[in-house]
Amino acid sequence: MPGTIVRMPEETAVVEQLLEDLGEETQPKSLKYGSSLRGRAAIVTGGATGIGRAIALELARNGAHVAFNYFSYDGGGEMHAEAEDTAREIRQLEVKVRCEECDVRDAAAVERFVRNTQDEFGALHILVNNAGIARDRAIWRLSDEQWRSVLDTNLTGAFHMIRALAPMFRRQHDGKIVNVSSVHGIRSEFGLANYSASKAGLLGLTRSAALELGPSNVNVNAVAPGYIRTTRLTSGVPAEILDTARERAVLGRLGDPQDVANVVVFLCSEYARHITGAVIPVDGGHLL
Ligand code: NDP
Repeated sequence: MPGTIVRMPEETAVVEQLLEDLGEETQPKSLKYGSSLRGRAAIVTGGATGIGRAIALELARNGAHVAFNYFSYDGGGEMHAEAEDTAREIRQLEVKVRCEECDVRDAAAVERFVRNTQDEFGALHILVNNAGIARDRAIWRLSDEQWRSVLDTNLTGAFHMIRALAPMFRRQHDGKIVNVSSVHGIRSEFGLANYSASKAGLLGLTRSAALELGPSNVNVNAVAPGYIRTTRLTSGVPAEILDTARERAVLGRLGDPQDVANVVVFLCSEYARHITGAVIPVDGGHLL
């Protein structure tokens, strides 16, 4: 019959299989930029775990040398093991790697970390401000310490890093900065006053830095992830909130650290040379 597609039985089986595959939750793939970042050197804050780890590894897969810091609030040894694991994986990708304990809230520690990295790597080209914490409480229960620690880590920490690297990026007329904000920097939820303020502040910092560093050929952008499946998140957030987040994302799933890493690496590459001051949601449509 004209207009009707007649399929052989084996073709029908293939189509049915494809439809079945589409119904399953897909997994993000690593970008295939190959060696586009070969010879570049990057700093990723909080690179030992979660999203930062995925970013550090993806930068390394694309040929960049990677330095990352970690900081254990409790002074326990667990973080060191995670940092060592991440460093080992990066090293296997045949790029230089260094990891050092550094509290991003401490301006002097940040200056030291940047100086040590520069001594070892030479020029630095990429900064990803990923380190971040959450201390959720309703405003009337929020202590000064809970307010300050979140602002100091998520916002002031990024400022410390940008200030430490800006002179080098300006001198070499070359640099890429990506700040890991959040959908909660754009739209808040109950109990997130400190976190939302810090992540919204980070968007303001992104725009200001883009404005000030743009004439020196430095791109400054932000990503705003929705709920991303990281160990910390899945162990710390009640299941009902994660279910609501999954429903709210029009793509019907939580994100994966690799989803964020792919966008960050794109922003760090020359493919994104004409993008600056932008905020890219990586949220499966959460903000729609
Ligand atoms: P993780 O807790 O795994 O990562 C946070 C990292 O930041 C850790 O490695 C942590 O190291 C480091 N860090 C915390 N405080 C400091 C500090 N003072 N100095 C240096 N490093 C520090 O969580 P995620 O991977 O989920 O989060 C990464 C980023 O992504 C954060 O900025 C978060 O706000 C953001 N984000 C996450 C979302 C999610 O759903 N997971 C959604 C939107 C944004 P240590 O543990 O040793 O202190």
